[in-house]
Amino acid sequence: MHIITTRSDLRQHLASEKGMSIGLVPTMGALHAGHISLVKRSVRENDITVVTIFVNPTQFNDQQDLIKYPRDVDGDRSLLSASLSDSDLLFIPEADDIYSDEKPFTLDLGELDRIMEGKFRPGHFGGVVRVVRILLESVMPDRAYFGQKDFQQLVIISEMTRQLGLPVEIIPCPIVRESNGLAMSSRNTRLEKSVRQKAGLVCQTLKKYSVIHDQKSIEKVKQEIIDEIERSGLFRVEYFDIVDNRELRSVTPLTPVDPEREYFGCIALYAGDVRLIDNMAFSFPNSKG
Ligand code: AMP
Repeated sequence: MHIITTRSDLRQHLASEKGMSIGLVPTMGALHAGHISLVKRSVRENDITVVTIFVNPTQFNDQQDLIKYPRDVDGDRSLLSASLSDSDLLFIPEADDIYSDEKPFTLDLGELDRIMEGKFRPGHFGGVVRVVRILLESVMPDRAYFGQKDFQQLVIISEMTRQLGLPVEIIPCPIVRESNGLAMSSRNTRLEKSVRQKAGLVCQTLKKYSVIHDQKSIEKVKQEIIDEIERSGLFRVEYFDIVDNRELRSVTPLTPVDPEREYFGCIALYAGDVRLIDNMAFSFPNSKG
């Protein structure tokens, strides 16, 4: 794989590869098997894969989280060398290079970036759409790969590309989990070993309640999920909600369930000062799942 550190070198390199299909996999590094599943899929579906490693400062609302974010570029390079070939690129830019000539743009995301992650991490999605737009415009990929682990991010990026008319197919990729069910995350390395071992509880609890037999009981189910996870004494739940996959509208006992939509239970929680997110498909008597 070629390692490239500036957008001008990236554009120059890709300009010489006309006619090749390109897959983009944006990451913040500290790579694990979840990231690699996206990389492998891109390699299968495209002539050239561009993996980016950029810990994007504009999407961190908490400066401590940015400082403590795990970084391991050497480890990332060796992990990627097993999946990428000579024709693929690893792009590792600095923030100055990314943002130096950024052009303003407007999006109407409605409530999409104000609820769940948007509510508890104000400004987070503003930073995400800024960097993803710049990466998409720099690489001009045919396909871009994003994990369903960041479910709300996936919905917002799909909406951004639609509104900006960017000619790219956004490919959602399933969540890769550790053997106990914990969703893989770069932040998991910051968990205490005993907490990491017990953190499968989050996924197991979501799964246990994921088939809702009676929509009238939904508020009780939401509370039971939070209580069951917090009862372990290991986690503090920041939010849990069940939303549809298009408008991210919270399902209540009165919400008409649309058989054409899918529904996801989305959770954010803290283990000490480590913030984790996860989600799972939820079904109702008259929903798709
Ligand atoms: P990050 O480095 O956390 O910004 O993640 C880069 C990409 O990898 C995003 O599209 C994430 O949704 C995806 N990703 C992270 N963790 C997982 C996972 N456990 N399974 C699948 N995709 C993931």
